[in-house]
Amino acid sequence: MASLITCPHCGVRPKEEFTIRGDASPVRPAPGAAFEAWDVYVHLRDNVRGVMHELWQHTGGCRRWLVVERDTFTHEVHAVMDAAEFARARAGKPTRAATAGKTSAARKGPVAKVEKPAKGRGEA
Ligand SMILES: [Zn+2]
Repeated sequence: MASLITCPHCGVRPKEEFTIRGDASPVRPAPGAAFEAWDVYVHLRDNVRGVMHELWQHTGGCRRWLVVERDTFTHEVHAVMDAAEFARARAGKPTRAATAGKTSAARKGPVAKVEKPAKGRGEA
């Protein structure tokens, strides 16, 4: 059985429709920042063993950039959110879900919670 990713815009889709760019945690420095800040931003990445946020693009679907919260050891996906919403939340700005006011649990929001499939390790 193929691994499935829940795109907040398209719904449950096979992972083959997505392209991974990498770590979503680096923050772009200001244009006039020091060389060292740009060096760190462009070249240095942590090699995380555990849960991290990654930039994924739904290239076979809506083509939106997403942030996937994934465990790099177990490959379990915990959550998927729109990258723009992730950036707004990281900057401390209100997200669309927060500004929409009274949202119901059934409302289709920018974050897609992932249902955990009942399968053992080693299955693809
Ligand atoms: Zn999509």
